[in-house]
Amino acid sequence: MADYPRFGPAGVPPSFRVLKASLMDVPRLLREEGLDAFEYQAVRWGVKPQIRREDAEKFGLKARENDVAVSLHGSYFMNFCGGKETVDASKKRLIACATASEWMGSPLVVFHVGFYGRKSPKQVFNECLEALKDAVSEMKTLGIKGVKLGLETMGKVSQFGSLDEVLGLCEQVEQTQPVIDWAHLHARDKGRFKTVEDFREVFVEIEKRLGAEAVKNMHCHFTKIEFTDKGEKRHHVLDEAGYGPDFELLAKVIAEFRLNPVIISESPILDLDAIKMRDILMKELKC
Ligand SMILES: [Zn+2]
Repeated sequence: MADYPRFGPAGVPPSFRVLKASLMDVPRLLREEGLDAFEYQAVRWGVKPQIRREDAEKFGLKARENDVAVSLHGSYFMNFCGGKETVDASKKRLIACATASEWMGSPLVVFHVGFYGRKSPKQVFNECLEALKDAVSEMKTLGIKGVKLGLETMGKVSQFGSLDEVLGLCEQVEQTQPVIDWAHLHARDKGRFKTVEDFREVFVEIEKRLGAEAVKNMHCHFTKIEFTDKGEKRHHVLDEAGYGPDFELLAKVIAEFRLNPVIISESPILDLDAIKMRDILMKELKC
């Protein structure tokens, strides 16, 4: 979607809330900060969209007027690795999110696929594959064509969503794309991003398996993260020493390959770190 790198927050920044800004003001306020992406948080939604269609459409219009690229983060209450009832309810939630996403003109619903539970990773992979194929065919039946499912790489070892698993599903399910949450990969793989080469490897792997377009317009989440043996523990701000990954290393690879990712800041200070990341990348692009 983007023809240049875009940056924005995951949800409405705290400073906008202080201003008592409504959702409709968010695109303009982001634009004033020089940001151009926004991930709407539908993370507590049930089986129906919790925004009225006319509001979603109006919000989408405001976003387009301000050239802010919108994505939607789907409900946390989904698990495509569970029993039949859980999977059916998850499908309904996913469809509700995709429906609202289409109303907003957002091309992507980001979501967490699920938890392994007691099943083996292989069995879980196969079950998710079938469930997501079903969900996509239902989206097609409903005429939801402009929205892709964004499968997020996950930060806890109990969660389905290693890079390999996400790419494996994206290879086989239409209307999907990977969402690379760098902090999650860093936490899951116990601090894997130490050098520019560690980041480059991920891009090379995605290009090999999904093609050059998948890399060029990648959708990412970024924050610094604290982790334990079980993976993700807590998000940290960009300036905090002692935590990774280092955005400067990622910026070098984005500049080297001239990529146009959407980078959503999930730092505790959302928009302020989005601005910081944007400035780091701009500096890299000028060298
Ligand atoms: Zn997420």
